[in-house]
Amino acid sequence: MSEKLITINTVNLINNCPECFSTKGLQLTFKQRFIETIFYKSITQEVSTEMNCVVCHTEIYPARWTDDIERIYNYQMKAFQPKKSSKKYKSLFWILFTVLVLSLAAVITFLVYNYL
Ligand SMILES: [Zn+2]
Repeated sequence: MSEKLITINTVNLINNCPECFSTKGLQLTFKQRFIETIFYKSITQEVSTEMNCVVCHTEIYPARWTDDIERIYNYQMKAFQPKKSSKKYKSLFWILFTVLVLSLAAVITFLVYNYL
């Protein structure tokens, strides 16, 4: 099973970067957790965010946020529309599923003919 965070949306913020004070660098990235197994691919409702400054190449952790950043962050969080969680079965799953159903049917047929 593999898990990864995929980027859904990136928003440019006009707030001052707490590190370099540039107003052109802050970016808020929204990610959702994506799970892949041999049987299915699934996107979860788990959203995680990251804030980076592209001017000074620093990740801005919540501890460094100013009130303004916090306000815009809350606003962006409300505006963000996560992708609906979904699960997609791969063909291996359907092949095994079909084999299982067919062998079950065969076993039942065998039992019915021989013991009833
Ligand atoms: Zn910066």
